Amino acid sequence: MKLLLITPPLTQINTPYPATTMLKAYMQAQGHPTAQADLGIELVDRLYSRAWLSRYAEQASDPEEKDYLLHCSEVVEPVKAFLRGEDNTLASRIANRTLLPEGARFDSLTDLEWAFGTSGTEDKARHLATLFIEDIADYLRTHADSHFDLIRYAEEIANYAPTFDELYTELSVPASLVDRLMLDLLEQHLETEKPGLVGFTIPFPGCLYGALRCAQHIKQRHHLPVVLGGGFVNTEWRQLSDTRIFDFCDFITYDDGELPLLRIVEHLEDNRTTASLVRTLTPSSPHLEESDENPDNQSLPTPDFGGLPMDKYLSLAEMTNPMHRLWSCGRWNKLMMAHGCYWHRCAFCDTSLDYIRRYDVPTASTVVDRMERIIAQTGNTGFHFVDEALPPKLLGEVSQEILRRRLTVSLWGNIRFEKAYTAELCDLLAEAGCVAVSGGLEVASDRLLRLMDKGVTVGQTLQACRHLRDAGIMVHTYLMYGFPTETLQETLDALDTVRRMFDEGIVQSAFWHRYAMTCHSPSGRQPEQYGARRISCEPHPFCNNEVDWAPQEGLGNAQFDYDIDEVGNGLRIATYNYMNGLGLEQPVHSWFPGIRFPKQKKHSSR
Ligand code: SF4
Repeated sequence: MKLLLITPPLTQINTPYPATTMLKAYMQAQGHPTAQADLGIELVDRLYSRAWLSRYAEQASDPEEKDYLLHCSEVVEPVKAFLRGEDNTLASRIANRTLLPEGARFDSLTDLEWAFGTSGTEDKARHLATLFIEDIADYLRTHADSHFDLIRYAEEIANYAPTFDELYTELSVPASLVDRLMLDLLEQHLETEKPGLVGFTIPFPGCLYGALRCAQHIKQRHHLPVVLGGGFVNTEWRQLSDTRIFDFCDFITYDDGELPLLRIVEHLEDNRTTASLVRTLTPSSPHLEESDENPDNQSLPTPDFGGLPMDKYLSLAEMTNPMHRLWSCGRWNKLMMAHGCYWHRCAFCDTSLDYIRRYDVPTASTVVDRMERIIAQTGNTGFHFVDEALPPKLLGEVSQEILRRRLTVSLWGNIRFEKAYTAELCDLLAEAGCVAVSGGLEVASDRLLRLMDKGVTVGQTLQACRHLRDAGIMVHTYLMYGFPTETLQETLDALDTVRRMFDEGIVQSAFWHRYAMTCHSPSGRQPEQYGARRISCEPHPFCNNEVDWAPQEGLGNAQFDYDIDEVGNGLRIATYNYMNGLGLEQPVHSWFPGIRFPKQKKHSSR
């Protein structure tokens, strides 16, 4: 039986999402022919085409809109070629702003001369071409399909969905213009591959609707079995009880998909009993039974990128910040070094789930073997390691192995900022090709880092960042606000720490997330240990991950005695400015004009 594994619209558009590459390799090694498709990049490629945009322009009744779309259709193919790195000669024309139609996104352009200088023509052109692509996305969202966004589709109805009702209703109405295009692309794959089973990975809420729309089409038109799995399923659907989901699929798998998928294929091929299925829901067995059965990391085959449209991915640069653009620019090979997190203790993290809890490392030599095979397959030497937290010991060994084999590669990934990142280790990483790391400083307060069992101090983090900076490795840090018991003053102090880090040049980009209590994290499972309580413990019938909480004492159901949303806005605006080298002299409280801060105690002179 042939399998077809699909990444549904929409994830990122600069490089393939890795789930199907890992599953395809595993299933093929088990003797099951497997094809894969990235419907997201195919959909973007079709929408952003001369043929489609000019056809769409013909239907526009407003002359101004018609002109805009026709102009877009005339330049879109060369712009795509530029963004794919196929035709750099267009950079000057894009950069001198005589080629592209300029919509609302161009209104917020900062001083390009300041950002790119006079020699950064290609970077400037990439930034302008990105604004052009985003302008079209805005237009399509307003005029063609309100669900469309460049890297997510209908995310608003999949995010925080306690019941299936809204999504189910949306899936009951006729397919939209963008849906039809997506289904047309799906049909082509079904026609070519003639699969006996179709699987969808759903890593994020922004691809749930696309997956279900496609699954619905397959079940209605082709009567093929469909399986759903992926990160969103793992975190949101562990307590799923609304069986209407089986109108769209036959199997739902949890945690790593290799073994569940293999058992499903064996079950379908040999008509074996459902007892052999592992971590899988079916209409006749709709309750999840956890299991730790998994192939070990060392024995897994190298991810297989075969069949993905590698020439279609677009490298975008939304911001001028060089660290920030790594996420959207470059066709990085996504590879996992170790499974799970070697620390797996942070109070806000999904440590009870397999993807964090189960730490399983291959040898350094196996990691580098995989890298070499992937380079041979994709022609790309850049690697984005998608580990939850790269283990420093293995990272060091992999670096030595890269140097021993004299490979020229670039790599980056997520780490914990800990003592192990000495000057020597950072120099070794840089020598082996490490260009950047990301990691969580979270709340930037020693009291709160202790409370959340992060296992590092602010001082250790700063020291690790200094060593990374000295080695020439860029740093992005994840920051968090709104942790239970966090005071306004602690948040203000955290922002000041971040400001000093930018000022010192030991961090290049940062992002603030609001703390979310999830039911799979230590703080969600035992909130009282963190000064909080859950407001309701009843599971919802559809999605369950984030839970409502309040402080253990006082304040009723309010989480804070200050406006947490306004604080979040101030943090993001300040950090956006820092990333652009602005506002570093400004007192941090000035980013929160609507917030009254408690008066600072005067320090005694004695
Ligand atoms: S937050 Fe990072 S370091 Fe902490 S347990 Fe999760 S993956 Fe590990």
